[in-house]
Amino acid sequence: SPDEEQNKSNRTKEALRNARELYEKERGSEKEQLHLVVIGHVDAGKSTMMGHLLYDLGNVPQRLMHKYEQESKKLGKQSFAFAWVLDETGEERTRGITMDCGLQRFETPTKQVTLLDAPGHKDFIPNMICGANQADVAILVVDATRGEFEAGFEQGGQTREHALLVRSLGVSQLCVAVNKLDNENWSQERFNDIMTKLKQFLKQAGFKDSEVHYIPCSGLTGENLVKPSTEPALKSWYNGKTLLEVVDSFKVPERAIDKPFRMSISDVFKGVGSAGFCISGRIASGHVCVNDKVLMCPSREQCVVKYITIDDVQVQTAFAGDQVAITITGIDPSNVSVGFILCDTLNPVPLETKIKARIIVFNVKTPITIGYPVLLHHHSLVEPAIISKLKAQLHKGTGEVIKKNPRCLTNNSCALIELSFQRAIAIEKYSELKEMGRIMLRVGGTTIAAGLVF
Ligand code: GDP
Repeated sequence: SPDEEQNKSNRTKEALRNARELYEKERGSEKEQLHLVVIGHVDAGKSTMMGHLLYDLGNVPQRLMHKYEQESKKLGKQSFAFAWVLDETGEERTRGITMDCGLQRFETPTKQVTLLDAPGHKDFIPNMICGANQADVAILVVDATRGEFEAGFEQGGQTREHALLVRSLGVSQLCVAVNKLDNENWSQERFNDIMTKLKQFLKQAGFKDSEVHYIPCSGLTGENLVKPSTEPALKSWYNGKTLLEVVDSFKVPERAIDKPFRMSISDVFKGVGSAGFCISGRIASGHVCVNDKVLMCPSREQCVVKYITIDDVQVQTAFAGDQVAITITGIDPSNVSVGFILCDTLNPVPLETKIKARIIVFNVKTPITIGYPVLLHHHSLVEPAIISKLKAQLHKGTGEVIKKNPRCLTNNSCALIELSFQRAIAIEKYSELKEMGRIMLRVGGTTIAAGLVF
């Protein structure tokens, strides 16, 4: 009856308001949590930089660093020692070294920073998408060495692609680390030249100038990572922030705590010695408590939250922004896959076999026409889709319709399209819930478009 409906909706609203209060009570006094992803072209020096940063912060035990040095010396690759901190082999993982010394974590004066996806791997993009999905902010590492910056920045280089990807996934704050400047004798001219080129591009990609910071540094020598540089050639023209200071100055994006609960499942595994099974992922919006009844989508099966852990510590409640593992009961794990969405029973996520999306096209080899097959990436979901309608071409800046029903879409165009799927997926309009309304389209391992659900 209408009365019941009204009651239900009041109850929901109240529950959502209370979530914010609960959050303040539980977390108000803690350091703010920031999720950071490190992006950039292969060999730009991402691993070396982060390894060195973690070492300077005291997160890498001396003994372990010594071991890396010995091993890399043996192979005649001494300069790789820092990268090895992050480039762990499976063997080291199983021995639990990563867990022991907290290599995925570091602290700044005001933040507790989680490093998403140690970026040591060469085939980085699939991992990066996963990491960037959960990122609040990013460090873009570029190699300042003459010729190398240019190679990474060209079409096909990963600098552009990574930057566009993180922006389309909602990251708006960026630190550009102009790295390996030791190779260029700390030239201010080279630094400025790279900054000018990137500024122009990043603006086009949708970053605000005021939210992008540029720092000159060297991951190898450690210059300007944690401490201000002592290198005279750099000190003579730079006295701005260090990498750590920039990370500390990032604003933590507002968490969508007082919204309906949504969590995209990035992993499904067997719980340790418990009934039920475990899923992990980041809570996109809302909150979840132990004993809550929740809905698995798109299968729409109800299940119950048994345990919630954050960093292997059991908690009663978890909130938007938290990276969690949840033990659930009441459904068969074989009916659950990576990419599914766990949500509220009162405010379930809609299921769609067709969506409208506003996209920006980049990187297509042949123009997009009706019937174009793509892979839709939505949080951890990867779903085959067809571009079934080209509704309008839009002005990139204002979003006005330039042309209705265009015949094709080429690079750098902005458009309103329709996507169709073989089966229903759990997805929401950007205007309803920002956290659930961002998508990317990929073809043959390349991202060709990114956009919002309309
Ligand atoms: P990734 O692929 O981006 O993670 O790059 P790596 O961290 O593996 O570094 C690639 C190569 O660049 C290695 O040989 C490093 O020793 C070297 N390298 C990294 N950072 C610097 C730096 O700041 N200066 C110089 N000269 N070389 C660096």
